Amino acid sequence: MSYDVSWTGANGRIEAASLEKYVARYAALDKAEDAEKARLFYQIFLSRLDTWNSGGYKVFLDQLPVRRARFERACEKVVNLAPDFETIENPASQERILSVLSETSSTFERLGGESQTFAIAKAASVRAELKEKQRQQNWLMFALVASGIGLLALTARQNWRLRRANENISTNAERMAHLAKHDTLTGLRNRLALDERLSFLCRYQPRNDRVAVIAIDLDGFKTVNDVMGHNAGDALLVATARKLEAIVSAWHSSNMVFRVGGDEFIVIAHIDVDNDNAISLGHELVKCFKQPIETSYGNIIVDLSAGVALQNGTFEPEILMDADLALTFAKSRGKGHALEFDKSLRNNLHRRIELEAELKKAVLRGEFVPFYQPQFDLASGTVVGFEALARWSHPKLGFVPPDEFIPIAEGSGDIVSIGRAIFETACLDALKFPDGTSLSVNISVVELLQDDVIEHFRRSLERTKFPPERLKLEVTESVMMTDLDRILTTLASLRSLGIAICLDDFGTGFSALSYLTKFRWDELKIDRTFVKSALTDPVNRGIIRTVRGLASLIDAQVVAEGLETLEQIDLLKQMGCTVGQGYLLGQPMPAGDILQFVGAQSNKSPAVMVLDEEIVRIHG
Ligand code: C2E
Ligand code: CA
Ligand code: CA
Repeated sequence: MSYDVSWTGANGRIEAASLEKYVARYAALDKAEDAEKARLFYQIFLSRLDTWNSGGYKVFLDQLPVRRARFERACEKVVNLAPDFETIENPASQERILSVLSETSSTFERLGGESQTFAIAKAASVRAELKEKQRQQNWLMFALVASGIGLLALTARQNWRLRRANENISTNAERMAHLAKHDTLTGLRNRLALDERLSFLCRYQPRNDRVAVIAIDLDGFKTVNDVMGHNAGDALLVATARKLEAIVSAWHSSNMVFRVGGDEFIVIAHIDVDNDNAISLGHELVKCFKQPIETSYGNIIVDLSAGVALQNGTFEPEILMDADLALTFAKSRGKGHALEFDKSLRNNLHRRIELEAELKKAVLRGEFVPFYQPQFDLASGTVVGFEALARWSHPKLGFVPPDEFIPIAEGSGDIVSIGRAIFETACLDALKFPDGTSLSVNISVVELLQDDVIEHFRRSLERTKFPPERLKLEVTESVMMTDLDRILTTLASLRSLGIAICLDDFGTGFSALSYLTKFRWDELKIDRTFVKSALTDPVNRGIIRTVRGLASLIDAQVVAEGLETLEQIDLLKQMGCTVGQGYLLGQPMPAGDILQFVGAQSNKSPAVMVLDEEIVRIHG
């Protein structure tokens, strides 16, 4: 636009000058062509004036009102010359034209000059504006590029962070998944992992092999915990885990060990399809655990019990229950046993459940009565005491042996009321037994752990008026496997009531000789398993001799159980056992038969001879 103003201004000036030139030449020379040219340039100039009234020049003119007024006045004068140009031949017209043109030429000159300045200024301002815009655009571009780079960097960083977060999440997720399925102490797989493995085996039935599930429990783990402390218990569990892994992975690479409870483990073992001897795996585990386990707390010996269930047909998850059931029965046989599941165990389980239900009713009905097995002085052949042994005759189930119902009653807690009933009756019965004879009563650890145990015995003795000095309480070594300090304190309190305390089944239980020195035992009873094989097994004879020696060291009496033959009696006598009991000498019998039995015995004096001769006669 600025260029247009300047250009049109300059042209206007030229046209005005040309017009003036031709009018002046015509006036001077009177040439017709000059008149024509003058008229033509007048028309051109008029149309120029029109042009100046529009577009950019109009803007220029309107910029200043004085300029516009000046222009209007000059225009008017020029336009008014039209009649004079019609009559240009007339010198008066020529004179007027030249006068107006010279008068207005300064105005048009000035406007032309101004228009040029305006155009220059305008162009400069436009240039400046453009420059500013360019500068702004440069900045904008720079800002855009910079922010683009910034955004790129930010996105890259954000991406990196996201990737890191993603990696962290996935590592964390893996860690969480691992933790969820593993035991933190031993690192073994846990019950959740076991469930998964069992469902996996159900989905993809093993084809090339069969699966045996082995349920494992450590015998005496609790004792290690109680006696040596929980850290030692933990160390034992870790060492057990490593040992189990080493053993079972040597059998088959797919075998797995799981820890499913405190000291409970499960092994999933793969064996050949035609191998039916899964129990041998259980036996091997039991055998391996007969060796001491190395732990950070030193070498520890614990037995392992195992229940084995072998896949029979398709793999079913119930196999786990079968293995558990086999384990329960293996444990009921004592320590360090392995047992394979078979359907009869389920029947046994039903029997257990039935007995457990019946036990409670039997207590209320008073079905438990004590029988008494006489104990003899082996030298004189006289009856020196009686062991009360619980008997249960159920109206429908018939005679239920104590070996069967005592463990169930211990498990259910009914042993407390059974034991108390037996004790009370035995005290009353034994009051009628020969003077000076002792009464031995078995007492379970469950009874010993009752808060009122001391009070109970004190009151019972008060009620029955049975002299405590005639009373002996028999506890098995298994009591040492529980809260040892508490048990020893309880036993000491009972002893302070005047009751003698006997260690029953000595040698079959935990057998940590240390507790022999921790308590003042009155009697050690040699278990019948040692007596049974004493004649044939020199090791067993050695054990009996050791027990005898230990007993004399701690000033305790020794009682030999399970005497069934004359040879056993002779041997035990030779080894220094003074008191014995056994089927050969006298079976457990009801209280009513005791006096007659003792009477018959006393008729056989002199005692030593009678005992020996009688036995010889019976066996002869
Ligand atoms: P125990 O205390 O070792 O009792 C001795 C067991 O050996 C008795 O079995 C007895 O009948 C048996 N016995 C005696 N002489 C011979 C023999 O010459 N040969 C053989 N093979 N066995 C003989 P029983 O009466 O069946 O009692 C079994 C176990 O039940 C007892 O073993 C004892 O641990 C427990 N028990 C019995 N009565 C009670 C009770 O009232 N309370 C508690 N807590 N446990 C009891
Ligand atoms: Ca006993
Ligand atoms: Ca015994």
